Amino acid sequence: MTMDHVTTLECTLCGAEYDPDQVIYTCPEHDGVEGILEVKYDYDVVHDRFDAELDGNITSQWKYEAFLPVHEEASVVTLNEGGTDLFDAPGLSEALSVRTLVKDDGRNPTGCFKDRASSIAVTKAKHDGREIIICASTGNAAASLSGYAARGGLDCRIFVPGDAPAGKLAQPLVYGADVLAVDGSYDEAYDLSMEATGEYGWYNRNAAINPFQVEGKRTVGHELAEQSVARGEVPDWVVFSMGDGCTIAGAWKGFREFYDLDYVEDAPKMLGVQAEGASAIHDAFHGHDDVEEIAQTLADSIAVGRPRNTLKACRALEESGGTSVLVEDEAILEAELLLGSTEGIYTEPAGATPIAGVQTAREAGIIGADETVVVCSTGFGLKDTESAKQATGGVNRVEPRIEEINELYGDEAAAADD
Ligand SMILES: *Cc1c(COP(=O)(O)O)cnc(C)c1O
Ligand SMILES: [Zn+2]
Repeated sequence: MTMDHVTTLECTLCGAEYDPDQVIYTCPEHDGVEGILEVKYDYDVVHDRFDAELDGNITSQWKYEAFLPVHEEASVVTLNEGGTDLFDAPGLSEALSVRTLVKDDGRNPTGCFKDRASSIAVTKAKHDGREIIICASTGNAAASLSGYAARGGLDCRIFVPGDAPAGKLAQPLVYGADVLAVDGSYDEAYDLSMEATGEYGWYNRNAAINPFQVEGKRTVGHELAEQSVARGEVPDWVVFSMGDGCTIAGAWKGFREFYDLDYVEDAPKMLGVQAEGASAIHDAFHGHDDVEEIAQTLADSIAVGRPRNTLKACRALEESGGTSVLVEDEAILEAELLLGSTEGIYTEPAGATPIAGVQTAREAGIIGADETVVVCSTGFGLKDTESAKQATGGVNRVEPRIEEINELYGDEAAAADD
């Protein structure tokens, strides 16, 4: 067994170190799951092994295998996740009055950013000889894990809140998972999954407490760094929505690694965006205590009342010199429509949240007019068509008669005659 580029699992609270080959989720020295562990690497070994060219040609995240915490002899379970496009977005830029690019992670294999982590989870679970893998999810992690479990031949059991969007419940069923729709909130589904892990010893992929999960999410940071090198410009800001906070933490860790290794000459500031109704990380970052644990937002992927990774997320904001903002649900829906109608990119509400955040940050003077911004669309829009119906005016119902079309477009027919 060789994983000599991974040195330890280090507790983010007390600094205690653990053997990365031991199956451990959080530091036992603290209450509950507070002692989140961080995977540490020997970057001399990583750098020696990493010989890929940073030319912007990225077929999948496994281009960065030297950075990923898997055993050399493990067989990788992949659907070619990652390697997503970074699009110029002139129409969106004009609307936001700041130069904006879109990292389109909705086009991952199961339609969401989380595939980067699921590929690592299933690869590791399989290498460990596990047969059953589980997670709790607002929807996307469940759909993602189910797909990769199917690909890797593992049994998958998932805990989701009963009111998750239909598309996100259909997906894991098709991938053959047991879908346990918990009659309660995401936070309650999470607690139940943890209890079941303790009771049955299943491999738990819950992102915040499985220290290897965030590691897959780093590859979006690696890609953004590589794409910056290939384009010859580093963005001033990189913007993600925040639920548990793992995504932004992983993305920052990945970018920072490439910066620390001198692969890229500059690093962006991270802007984290939460919904007004689920603002725990934002509140913690700005030092507001005693906030209510509520999760009221139509952006279901970030409807998290008690985030599991507040510490790592706040660290990403702080280290990068960034900050966080809050946005209203209505602004999220408008942003979803704005991205779709200006650039042809269909994102789900949590994927549109960064765009609403840019608007807020522009108005507050946090983002300057001459800066460059990358927003990450984290999930594909077809997973949640209900919110799209709310975001748009809906369809025009017409009888199958030309008169009905004339009523709508009569002026244009007259113009064509001229
Ligand atoms: C999970 C998810 C997020 C938030 O990620 P966290 O790690 O929970 O902060 C954002 N967007 C989409 C589409 C997601 O599925
Ligand atoms: Zn500890």
